[in-house]
Amino acid sequence: MSSKEELYQQLILEHNKKPRNFGRLENPTHVAEGFNPLCGDHYHVFLRVNEAGIIEEISFDGSGCAISKASASMMTQSLKGKTEAQARGLFDAFHELITGEMEAGNGAVKLGKLAAFSGVWKFPARIKCAVLCWHTINGALEGSQDALTTE
Ligand code: ZN
Repeated sequence: MSSKEELYQQLILEHNKKPRNFGRLENPTHVAEGFNPLCGDHYHVFLRVNEAGIIEEISFDGSGCAISKASASMMTQSLKGKTEAQARGLFDAFHELITGEMEAGNGAVKLGKLAAFSGVWKFPARIKCAVLCWHTINGALEGSQDALTTE
């Protein structure tokens, strides 16, 4: 393993152990549920979007594997304070990163710490874990009331 891969792995383990923005949000404007039956990852995400379309508060709750939890934790950190449009842009960039479609070093800059997931495309079964909460947030912003499932 390269030192960069080691660093990424440590970051994922650290966020799994101490997830950020974990727990229910008071007075959310959006709530969505995401479930990945292949792995058993199951989360709720909570958003408070203000009138200007900015994500003021964001949190998540639930349980799952280290990849899904760390991804949700880092996602909440990256999306707080962003507009809905910026959130969608990050979602697209993250999706490219995770499926290995992103050109090396290109959009990774924009993703910051989320680049920790850049090796996940080598493990196809883990891709769904990593994108679960992103899909869930995306569904919440689009006003979907149904629980999101990766299957
Ligand atoms: Zn998982």
